[in-house]
Amino acid sequence: MPQLATSEAVAVIGAGTMGAGIAQVAAQAGHRVFLYDVAAGAARRAIAQLGAGLAKRVAAKKLDQKACDDIIARLLPVETLAETASATLFVEAVAEEMGIKRSLFAKLEALARPDAILATNTSTLSVTAMAAGLARPERVVGMHFFNPAQVMRLVEVIRGLATAPEVVETIDATAQAWGKVTAVARSTPGFIVNRVARPFYGEALRLREEGVADPATLDAIVTEGGGFRMGPFALMDLIGNDINYRSTCSVFEAYGSEPRFRPSLLQEEMVEAGWLGRKSGRGFYSYAPGSAMPESQTEAASSGRAAPLISGWEKQPVTLGGVSLLPTDGRRAEDIAREHGHPVAVHDLRLDDGTPGRRIAVALSPMSAGERQTVIASLQAAGSVTILPDWPALVVMRIVAMLVNEAYEAMLHGIADGAAIDRAMQNGVNYPRGPVAWGAAIGLPRIVAVLDALHAQTGDPRYRAAMNLRIAARSDG
Ligand code: NAD
Repeated sequence: MPQLATSEAVAVIGAGTMGAGIAQVAAQAGHRVFLYDVAAGAARRAIAQLGAGLAKRVAAKKLDQKACDDIIARLLPVETLAETASATLFVEAVAEEMGIKRSLFAKLEALARPDAILATNTSTLSVTAMAAGLARPERVVGMHFFNPAQVMRLVEVIRGLATAPEVVETIDATAQAWGKVTAVARSTPGFIVNRVARPFYGEALRLREEGVADPATLDAIVTEGGGFRMGPFALMDLIGNDINYRSTCSVFEAYGSEPRFRPSLLQEEMVEAGWLGRKSGRGFYSYAPGSAMPESQTEAASSGRAAPLISGWEKQPVTLGGVSLLPTDGRRAEDIAREHGHPVAVHDLRLDDGTPGRRIAVALSPMSAGERQTVIASLQAAGSVTILPDWPALVVMRIVAMLVNEAYEAMLHGIADGAAIDRAMQNGVNYPRGPVAWGAAIGLPRIVAVLDALHAQTGDPRYRAAMNLRIAARSDG
């Protein structure tokens, strides 16, 4: 693989949160790294801080002293851009402003070797636009690390319109040699992760706005049922509602007001109230000292007589007493019950990873109290139970169907291939499954049925199925 040899020097421009982390990653991989920041002394201070972090790892016996000393020795603070001239790879992590990045790249191009690579760590700006106007736009590429760069495994490698294929290959191979998992994507707003992840927040916010459940219950269903590491509301509070809202707005605007990315009025209001999340002490949850996390809505142990849950119940209809238990296909329980002529319980998607006791969210058509108790008692043998209002597609299924749809939209537009999208979502935001593989496991006809049901019941174009998803579902059905 054509990765950058460790004998080649790397220059990192910008010694803030990301630049410092990236410099450490490159130095750990064996490169000499020049670290430059426009603020005098910032590079030296950043390296001192990295040294303190590495010393803690030595104390915890996760790194030996010699390796630590070698990493520090390879981190070279410089006070002028000219001192970085001998580098072969430049990674910029300066302020997120097109003007600043363009003028920096013009300066770097003037001082660097003609075959040097200019990489940007931008999260939101166009790599194509950043390269425009340079003498060698083919040497410009995106190298998008996640925060903290030392810890997060993913690097999105972003191909601008003019980027040379060998530059993409070199950065892809180099990031892998630095211990990262990579996903190559075309330069488009949000790249892979920030685009494909939008429904995780957007659908959860809609469910809240529609009054389906409170944040604690929705988070419990998504984590304990869906197997996501964090629920959307806890995650929005961690990221900051202001940052998360701005990120949605920027993708929405960049895609010409695409309804799938429409920002949430609820989240806008939270931002206006200053309820930004953990950093302001209040978001969807309260973080004031002494405040406990609210309980999720969970059924108490049922006194009803449990019917045995036969294996395979999560994929196909079974009967509990006189009630049909079905996996959601987007239709409401009451509508199905009317067709069947007897009561129906519709259950949400659960992650099928063998973890026992996953939470089961379920919606019930009108039924007797005894039938209801039988359904609850039967399901409690498999996990804790949340009864939801009779709502289309429930919670995990609605979110996952929209994630799958977004992944197919990204593939349709040639942004990345399915394997890269799955790697990006599993390593960039820790999803339990990549959306493409998850869609295949659920069955694409079911995903399309869910989207069509949501579309039919809301009339909202955000739920239209991607053309390639519909086509793939036909050959899968
Ligand atoms: P930061 O504010 O922590 O650091 C930016 C640093 O760049 C500062 O030290 C500043 O003095 C320096 N700087 C500004 N203009 C400069 C110039 N012309 N030349 C040299 N140094 C200059 O910002 P950050 O969070 O590290 O983000 C840096 C870049 O990485 C941005 O493009 C951002 O969008 C991107 N990014 C950030 C994150 C994140 O979570 N923070 C994640 C991925 C990507």
